[in-house]
Amino acid sequence: MTLALIALAIVVFAILAMRESPLWQWALSALVIGLLTRIDFSAAGVSVATDLGGLILVLIPAIVFGLLSIAPMRKLVLMTPVYGAVKSILPRVSRTEQEALDAGTVGWDAELFSGRPDWDKLTSIRPLTLSAEEQAFLDNQTETACRMIDDWDIRNNRADLSPELWQFFKDEGFLGMLIAKEHGGLGFSAQAQSMIVSKIASRSVAAGITVMVPNSLGPGELLEKYGTPEQKDKYLSRLAKGLEVPCFALTGVHSGSDAGGMRDIGIVTKGMYQGKEVLGVRLSFDKRYITLAPIATLVGLAFLLKDPDNLLGRGTDIGITLALVPHDHPGMEIGRRHFPARQAFMNGPVRGRDVFVPMEFLIGGTEYAGQGWRMLMECLSTGRAISLPAIGSISIKQTLRATSAYARVRRQFGIPVGIMEGVAEPLGEMVKRAYTFEAARRLTASMVDEGQRPAVIAGLLKYTTTEAMRDSMDDAFDIHGGRAIQDGPGNYLFGAYMALPVAITVEGANILTRTLMTFAQGVLRAHPYLLKEVQAAQNKDRRQGLEQFDVAFGGHTKFMLRNIVASLLHGLSNGAFASTPNQGPMAHWYRRLHRYSQAFALVADWTTVFLGGALKRKQKISGRMADILGDLYMMSATLRRFEDEGRLPEDRELVEAIMADRVASMENTFGEVFANFPNPVFAWAMRVLCFPLGRHAKPASDRVNYRFVRAVLRPGAFRDRLTTGAYVSFDPNDVTGVLEDAFIKVTEAEEIEARFVKAARKGVIERRLDRDAIEDAVAAGVLNANEAGIMRAADEATERVVKVDDFAMDELAAESKDRVAAE
Ligand SMILES: Cc1cc2nc3c(=O)[nH]c(=O)nc-3n(C[C@H](O)[C@H](O)[C@H](O)COP(=O)(O)OP(=O)(O)OC[C@H]3O[C@@H](n4cnc5c(N)ncnc54)[C@H](O)[C@@H]3O)c2cc1C
Repeated sequence: MTLALIALAIVVFAILAMRESPLWQWALSALVIGLLTRIDFSAAGVSVATDLGGLILVLIPAIVFGLLSIAPMRKLVLMTPVYGAVKSILPRVSRTEQEALDAGTVGWDAELFSGRPDWDKLTSIRPLTLSAEEQAFLDNQTETACRMIDDWDIRNNRADLSPELWQFFKDEGFLGMLIAKEHGGLGFSAQAQSMIVSKIASRSVAAGITVMVPNSLGPGELLEKYGTPEQKDKYLSRLAKGLEVPCFALTGVHSGSDAGGMRDIGIVTKGMYQGKEVLGVRLSFDKRYITLAPIATLVGLAFLLKDPDNLLGRGTDIGITLALVPHDHPGMEIGRRHFPARQAFMNGPVRGRDVFVPMEFLIGGTEYAGQGWRMLMECLSTGRAISLPAIGSISIKQTLRATSAYARVRRQFGIPVGIMEGVAEPLGEMVKRAYTFEAARRLTASMVDEGQRPAVIAGLLKYTTTEAMRDSMDDAFDIHGGRAIQDGPGNYLFGAYMALPVAITVEGANILTRTLMTFAQGVLRAHPYLLKEVQAAQNKDRRQGLEQFDVAFGGHTKFMLRNIVASLLHGLSNGAFASTPNQGPMAHWYRRLHRYSQAFALVADWTTVFLGGALKRKQKISGRMADILGDLYMMSATLRRFEDEGRLPEDRELVEAIMADRVASMENTFGEVFANFPNPVFAWAMRVLCFPLGRHAKPASDRVNYRFVRAVLRPGAFRDRLTTGAYVSFDPNDVTGVLEDAFIKVTEAEEIEARFVKAARKGVIERRLDRDAIEDAVAAGVLNANEAGIMRAADEATERVVKVDDFAMDELAAESKDRVAAE
């Protein structure tokens, strides 16, 4: 009987926890169970215990829950001391942080943080669609631009794009893709911009960045969103056609990652402008690393605005403010060029001392003075989701396309290097990255097109994609060996390889984005109660704060209890009873995604509660939590892509392998979080609740990975799908066309070559794989003339691929001199 009652209590309280039931229901259930313990069902009949002491004892839980369900009582007894205690523990949110938090929206990320994902939020995002006009632009103007690009010429000979390419970009509107049609721009969607920038970057990262920057955070976007009608009329159509070249200067000499801590100051004052005395701002600034600055005609500036004489009537400290200043405005100094990672895109410093600008130069006018940080964060919450993920994912796809071809064409020890297990291992990883990061790019761009501002996902995607780009680049170099290292006009990898640190560093350097922004900001934004608790704790009105805290804390407690029960149940069943949006072939992975999201919700919650304000310092923990969120997001995006592409049977094994890898990676990272958690008791409890049966997930097997490698080592739909969006040429005189040409020819000659090798082994012909040997094979009747032609063509194409560039002794020195002169 006692055991049955204990079991009943566990079941009832677990159900209440799972349903996040109100306290009175807990009280009622505790009362019923308490009373049941007083009844004795024995063989002799039913009897009821009557001692008062025992009755009070079993009713204590019901009494406690009952009293707590009365709001004034709860506030007096529990909330007042808890409120006082947590005020000092909870993380504090500064004004700039609050503005950053307000700038973004939460969507699928909040579902992952909740531990109970609402699949509709994932499945209802409109899949990739381009308008007919966008598709035509991608197929025509973008293709033409790609054909005009010669990356070696750009990065080595000119240190700039060719004048023809610049003009083409300007004339065709590449620099004004985000500017609305009514303002003379192309008004393209986030998807279209991302795909156009990607294709160009697949040809030359420097050219990609040149197109990306005016379409990313900068004057165009800021004017579209916040500009006054006069500013829009004056600048947008000129920016759209490239008649004005914009740059945006936020980073200063002493303010990089901590951009909000800038020393660039503007003082509200009166001064002369166009012969009249007007109200304006006297600016002093020292900005650096600014892309397009050396050729910019319109400089966007961020500075800290002060109004010591209160001329605006808003106090002395106005805050971060943005202005647009023509490059030739008196006092503006556009500095000499930087040479970032030896890339050819324009980059340099911008300085000014006591530069007077009228109020009409402020973006949005005086009304927006002091709102600069919010404006920047709003733009960044979408921009970061588009531009660098586009460059990162295309680099991953392009390196796979090139490396798969090279690994098939290049032979050592008589076989293609790609089929050697040691080489297949990194190549297999490249295949999985290509599928996953394209999936994530698409999903996120679709969110932006729906009007979301997914700030947390944007940061997450920025650092994960560019880190994956780094991994794929390293793998591609390792697989190519010396062929990738010898730079020259024929090197199709070097430009992107050199550009890697740029992608890693800009728009929030990766270390900071991973360890500080993604989880710490994510948990504040996406946690259902934390921000409300923090805001209540920071409320200067104590009474009001306590009221708000009571509501938030009550919700948080229920959330915690549900997490405990749900994590344990999912852990015991390995997600067998978790939810799935469909019963398709990936239903088991949706359930696993739900199960790990539940574990993440619990650990995220406990980590935040335990670390509190120390979360920003405990970056090894928060970085790992960001990685787990990244795995959950990549699983979501991969599943979405599989559905969107019609559940292709030929992709199924690949998707399964990606899922297996991500789950294994997550379990490993969870283990690291527990092992390094500052409190061993919490760590033990989290381990038991999330993984009661241990962590046993296994990544995809070597055998399965090898099958993807074999599939990309031959031309076909699988390889094309994995590398979709990259510029492809089959011209043997083109830098990457030479690879595709050889790849096809070598594959065509495969069967013929096998016969040839067999004959050589049997001694029917003597020598192998030189041209004379092919003649011998014809003479010996092993090959006919047509087959010999196919084999010879493959042989010649291979030779073109494996050869590298060389230079005369003085040639390189002469080129360096030219380059310096050009700068
Ligand atoms: C090629 C290039 C183009 C650029 N273009 C522009 C542009 O057009 N406009 C513009 O305004 N800026 C531009 N930038 C600036 C860019 O945004 C900054 O370089 C970036 O914000 C990092 O600043 P920093 O280089 O000074 O590094 P620092 O801020 O000195 O950081 C050094 C390291 O410390 C880490 N770090 C810093 N703070 C923290 C923290 N709290 N927690 C954990 N880690 C931390 C960073 O991740 C980094 O790894 C460009 C930079 C480059 C290199």
